[in-house]
Amino acid sequence: MPDSTSDLTTAVAAPARPTGDPLIVLSGVNKHFGPLHVLQDIDLTIHRGEVVVVIGPSGSGKSTLCRTINRLETIDSGTITIDGQPLPEEGRALARLRADVGMVFQSFNLFAHKTVLENVTLGQVKAKGVRPAQAKATAMELLERVGVANQADKRPAQLSGGQQQRVAIARALAMKPKAMLFDEPTSALDPEMINEVLDVMVSLAREGMTMVVVTHEMGFARRAAHRVVFMDAGQVVEQAEPEEFFTAARSERARDFLSKIL
Ligand code: ADP
Ligand code: MG
Repeated sequence: MPDSTSDLTTAVAAPARPTGDPLIVLSGVNKHFGPLHVLQDIDLTIHRGEVVVVIGPSGSGKSTLCRTINRLETIDSGTITIDGQPLPEEGRALARLRADVGMVFQSFNLFAHKTVLENVTLGQVKAKGVRPAQAKATAMELLERVGVANQADKRPAQLSGGQQQRVAIARALAMKPKAMLFDEPTSALDPEMINEVLDVMVSLAREGMTMVVVTHEMGFARRAAHRVVFMDAGQVVEQAEPEEFFTAARSERARDFLSKIL
């Protein structure tokens, strides 16, 4: 499916917001980098099955927000809970949490010296104790699903950027996450590869995956997001349904930002 003609341009109403229970809850979260107050009193709840697009100017704290949810960054104050559990400090509980929340970065971050198949198999075996044969079967199924099963024995560098990013998505899914975070997953891609990655993300969204997606791809937001969260200068300035946000943003800061990207 990812290699088929994209229907991203087709007007499709965003799905109704799911009524799932809170899965990721940030409450009063603050984070500094030295003197820089990069996350300022962030309150944000992501419900199970919800797809939230985070947008905002460069440097507004979007990546830091994602990284704190996965505890790649610590926070200075406030709380973050995933499925009712506070974020663990370290150790096995942290490893489990990382597996619960899959993360896909702008730079694909695949293991360069492993094959595509090994990339999707390793974490299952090492972090989850899945038996190799089972891990391989799961990996092949996921590679099939993202449309790159025929690349399984290659090294990442032999694949296009779009293919590598789809492998990165498969690798995250292999850990059977409760939620997926995407941090500008298509911004490093050549334009013709963007839709093949977005199509995979849209199908994930439609299957009910809980997703936090930092992206400026308005087509994706319109097609798949239940909510747009606009960040500026470390704050969540505004939240709205996509259509409402893109046509009638309430804050001056959001309107100013939209006028530059639309
Ligand atoms: P965005 O993803 O919205 O572009 P980031 O979360 O990457 O924003 O960055 C927010 C701010 O924090 C920026 O000013 C950035 O320079 C700063 N920053 C990010 N990571 C670090 C770090 N590890 N050390 C110091 N400053 C950082
Ligand atoms: Mg960023």
